[in-house]
Amino acid sequence: MKYVDEYRGRAHAQALARELRATVTRPHAVMEVCGGQTHAIVKYGIDALLPPEVTLIHGPGCPVCVTGVGLIDKAVALAGREDVIFCSFGDMLRVPGSSRDLLSVKAAGGDVRMVYSPLDAVKAAANAPEKEVVFFAVGFETTAPANALAVLQAKRLGLKNFSLLCAQVRVPPALEALLAMPECRVGGFLAAGHVCTVMGYREYEAIAAGHGVPIVVTGFEPVDILTGILHCVAQLEAGRAEVENQYARSVTRDGNTRAQQSMAEVFSVVDRDWRGLGTIPRSGLGLKEAYREYDAEHRFTLPEEQEHEAGVCISGEVLSGLKKPNECPAFGTQCTPEHPQGAPMVSGEGACAAYYRYRRNPDRASAQES
Ligand code: SF4
Repeated sequence: MKYVDEYRGRAHAQALARELRATVTRPHAVMEVCGGQTHAIVKYGIDALLPPEVTLIHGPGCPVCVTGVGLIDKAVALAGREDVIFCSFGDMLRVPGSSRDLLSVKAAGGDVRMVYSPLDAVKAAANAPEKEVVFFAVGFETTAPANALAVLQAKRLGLKNFSLLCAQVRVPPALEALLAMPECRVGGFLAAGHVCTVMGYREYEAIAAGHGVPIVVTGFEPVDILTGILHCVAQLEAGRAEVENQYARSVTRDGNTRAQQSMAEVFSVVDRDWRGLGTIPRSGLGLKEAYREYDAEHRFTLPEEQEHEAGVCISGEVLSGLKKPNECPAFGTQCTPEHPQGAPMVSGEGACAAYYRYRRNPDRASAQES
């Protein structure tokens, strides 16, 4: 398949690994920001190909994982109302709140629906005018344009019973927050290619220059990731700190300006609470005043946000790259995909789920395809 097969070739990957070994002279720590990249690294054993001087740190780029407990609690409260149809992507249903998850509300009779697009929720609102339909708007900048379009479509249709519970997050402020942590070891970043497809990478240029860290916009296939690491390490070795675009087949410096216009019409930048990481200034998107009637937090009286992480879960340390999932005492014992104690074990992009799937059994891990 074009744009896939040529980025999965074993010989190409091994040549990049050799080039990396020839380039590196001293230790470097590189963070892959996106959970999709983490899954590819763990699945294909990319970290096993790296020279010992290069350490990969898994980042917070899983939107399901970083959605604050307080917002899950609000989702649970909304979903439990008799007058509400609560729509969400499937991954969110099993993410624990402070005491329950959405799936348990559904099991108790709540009208909780798994949807594949926010427009499915708009359709549900048009079909059930006697109900309030709330869509759980979770995601990085990748999902924000579609969520903005759903609000615009609801407005166009004159729907008065559609709203978003907004959990949108933005990547650049999270990178700045990680770099400000005293224990941060990150020397360079692989930025998430899909986020930059929407947003471009101008915002990252200020971070690279201001913090002296190279940032390489990187795709999701093994050859993409190895190339991104190689470019990042080459910059570190040369003492450069610039933004490079490895994912030029999808990303431009300005990104998708039409998608950005839709976002800017509906959303404004707000502070956002990240699960395990606390409140990060200007790291979220909320509905603008002009679209307040589509804001579930405005339409309904909801519980105050409180941060209650399950006792054993160290997701904050995992999401900030301070610990690997298998360093969590609960990993694979108390915490499994069947009985998750934290969001990173639930999500398809969660680092703990990736380690459980591909690294629980070392024999199996080494047998992964390359
Ligand atoms: S293994 Fe489970 S309990 Fe441990 S950090 Fe991951 S999600 Fe939390």
